[in-house]
Amino acid sequence: MQIAANRVVSIHYQVATAEGESVDASQPGEPLVYLHGQGQIIGGLERALLGKAAGDKVAVEVAPKDGYGEYDPELDVAVPLDAFPKDLRAKLVPGAQFHAEHPTKGTEAVFTVHKVEGGSAYCSGNHPLAGKTLQFKVEIADVRDATKDELSHGHAHGPGGHHHH
Ligand code: ZN
Repeated sequence: MQIAANRVVSIHYQVATAEGESVDASQPGEPLVYLHGQGQIIGGLERALLGKAAGDKVAVEVAPKDGYGEYDPELDVAVPLDAFPKDLRAKLVPGAQFHAEHPTKGTEAVFTVHKVEGGSAYCSGNHPLAGKTLQFKVEIADVRDATKDELSHGHAHGPGGHHHH
C-alpha cells in the first residue's frame, strides 16, 4: 500500500542539519506513527513520502521554508517585564511559552522565554530549527488505511499514535 492522504504511516527516521549535527531520531522498535496529509509532520518531508510504500528508504533534504521556517531576526525580542500583565510576570521563566503578534507582520507566533534579566524578558518566536536545512533519512515501516475513528479525530491511534484515556 502506498502512502496517501488519510493513511496511517509508521516511519523510522533520523534527522540532522546540513552541517551534520544530529537533531532527532526515532527509537529502535518505536517508529513515528502519523496520519498522512494532515500536516502532522513538516511539509517538505510529508511531500517526499507521498507514494512510497513499506520497506522504501527515502533520503530527503528539506529547506527551511518547507521545514520550520526561515530565521526571522524580528522575532528575537527583549520585552520589558512591565509590558506583561502582572499575574503573568511570575510565569516568565526560561522555557515558558506564550502567543503574541509578530512585531511588524501582525501574524501570531509562539514565543519562548530564554532568559529574564535587567527588567526584560528575552524571548524568541523562532523555532529552534528555523533557518536550518534538514536532512532526513527515513525507512517506511508500515502503511495502512486509517480507521473511521482516526479520520474523525484527525490522528493515528494505537502503538506510537494517540492514546485516549
Ligand atoms: Zn483519537
